Amino acid sequence: MGGWTDIVPSALFIMPTDAYLKEVPPRLSQVFEGRRKLLDICEALGLLQAEIEYVFTQPYGHRLDCELLSKQFEQLAVSIAAEIPHSQCDCPPSERKCPKCEGRRWLTATQHRQALPVQK
Ligand SMILES: [Zn+2]
Repeated sequence: MGGWTDIVPSALFIMPTDAYLKEVPPRLSQVFEGRRKLLDICEALGLLQAEIEYVFTQPYGHRLDCELLSKQFEQLAVSIAAEIPHSQCDCPPSERKCPKCEGRRWLTATQHRQALPVQK
């Protein structure tokens, strides 16, 4: 056992996928690698939020505005999560002015939600 593969996260060898775990074409691989990066940032913000809430309970943290700081971390994560690459657009390759993806051929989480059929 041993070797360099043991220290490199196996996730690096996984092809990027969209939110449906569907592999994306090479031209979108950078975008959907970014999906993982942004999810990591959101997770890190969640951990920081928990850290602040912990620090507030400690003798050195009583002056922190725990409620405000906690809410700010949450707002940062929500803002980022809203624009994370979500999935590929279903428009044909010839479509240059798709109203859903603006011709990029992929949708952020917010664009995906907006493109869903309206529930009656
Ligand atoms: Zn489109």
